Amino acid sequence: MFSARDMLRYAAVPGLDRAYVIGCLERRVTIYAQQVRALNTVNALFTTGRVQPGDTVVVLGAGFAGLTAAVGAAFLGAEVIVLEKEPIPFSVQAGCSQRWIHPHIYDWPYANSDQASAELPVLDWQAGPCESVVRDLRAEVERAQRDYRLEINCSIEDLQLPGEGNLRYQAHDDVGGLRSPYRRIRYSALIVAVGFGVEPDGSYWREDDLEQPFPGPRNGFVVSGIGDGGLIESVRLRLGGHGEQQNLFPWLMEEFLPSLNRYLIGELRAAESAAEPSPSTYAGDERHRRDEGFSHELAEVYERLLGEHPEVLRAAGSRLRPDSQVRLVGTLPEPYHPHASALNRFLVAVLRHVDGPHFEYIQGRTAASAGGRVIRRTGTADAGTVDPIEDDTRLIVRHGPTSALEAGLAGLAEKLRGVSPMQLDAPRIPQWDSSLFEGYGSG
Ligand SMILES: Cc1cc2nc3c(=O)[nH]c(=O)nc-3n(C[C@H](O)[C@H](O)[C@H](O)COP(=O)(O)OP(=O)(O)OC[C@H]3O[C@@H](n4cnc5c(N)ncnc54)[C@H](O)[C@@H]3O)c2cc1C
Repeated sequence: MFSARDMLRYAAVPGLDRAYVIGCLERRVTIYAQQVRALNTVNALFTTGRVQPGDTVVVLGAGFAGLTAAVGAAFLGAEVIVLEKEPIPFSVQAGCSQRWIHPHIYDWPYANSDQASAELPVLDWQAGPCESVVRDLRAEVERAQRDYRLEINCSIEDLQLPGEGNLRYQAHDDVGGLRSPYRRIRYSALIVAVGFGVEPDGSYWREDDLEQPFPGPRNGFVVSGIGDGGLIESVRLRLGGHGEQQNLFPWLMEEFLPSLNRYLIGELRAAESAAEPSPSTYAGDERHRRDEGFSHELAEVYERLLGEHPEVLRAAGSRLRPDSQVRLVGTLPEPYHPHASALNRFLVAVLRHVDGPHFEYIQGRTAASAGGRVIRRTGTADAGTVDPIEDDTRLIVRHGPTSALEAGLAGLAEKLRGVSPMQLDAPRIPQWDSSLFEGYGSG
């Protein structure tokens, strides 16, 4: 059993008294998982007595995790001060109408992964377009600001963390361009919720035109990266349907997944848990070999299952787009990385079966060269071969975010350097007693 003390021990920043990190080094990085970590941290701080009603709690970062922690702690009686470096809260996902988010779908094919409600006591939400989830949660945060002692400061700069429960920062006036004088705060707990950062090649959460029809001859795309970002873009580009059936997510949730759940769920659960690499501290080459083994193993399973279930291929085949073709590029022999979600991996396996000439997977890396952009192949059979990426081909790079800790908080990143990312899943399982947040939202 993972206790409140374990939670704090895992989350503590070495060498910085009273500071706790919410999953910025973690691997299960869904919005829901981050909110659960946030509430587990708040639960642990209050149940161990490290924070008492009336104490000051500072939360760094006004994303899903930071605001969930902030509202939870404010409800429990703390005086909460949120510090956000961007001009608005939820800046990462705000205004993103084309991405749908779902609290549990990353757990598919396991039980309850189709449950549309997050079922959180604070900042609860339902599956839907990201923009509308953010709008509802922002309204809830504003209500919490009226009801509790919760202060949110945006556009903060030059945060300094000398330790012993002290910090200071300046605020930047986005309109006038002026900086405020330094403000000093003494805190009982500092919750670091700065997330994982944004991708240097363009954030996943910005709007794009990938789900709109492309005029003219088939448009060519190279998608680089086999994490969830790369897999999702490939699926949007090839399984988007045509015209009025364009929106992928409702089709996935209402038609495709229920059919998979009818025919295949048991076998997929068994296959996923058999192939799942055990949490480990393998590094470098050893980890790469482990990931290669995982990708081969799943490729064999998917091949067999899809051979036995042509109805799955027929359902997906009816959604193939007439206007795009995709080369997906990744470093593993097969496009199935253990860190990507099982659903995205399986959808790409379906594409490989059903979408012959218009979807290809290449083991390699995309790079810039003197003659332009290229794919350098690294597969055993064709290692060293270089494919040019033609000028009229769009390159979409999904190589993951630059660490927010490294980008803005060098001192903290340094302190966390030796800490291995938590490999336990325990912090993402709710630990609080249901009575803790009783009465929240009742007016
Ligand atoms: C390609 C991709 C696809 C994804 N798809 C999904 C998905 O479909 N579903 C899902 O649930 N999750 C998805 N995720 C993960 C999701 O983005 C994260 O789980 C979620 O954003 C985590 O919330 P957070 O509050 O921890 O971090 P964030 O949302 O990153 O919020 C952190 C906040 O901290 C602020 N901040 C950063 N540095 C500082 C600083 N130095 N000082 C003060 N403030 C700071 C930021 O501006 C931001 O407001 C995806 C991630 C990527 C990269």
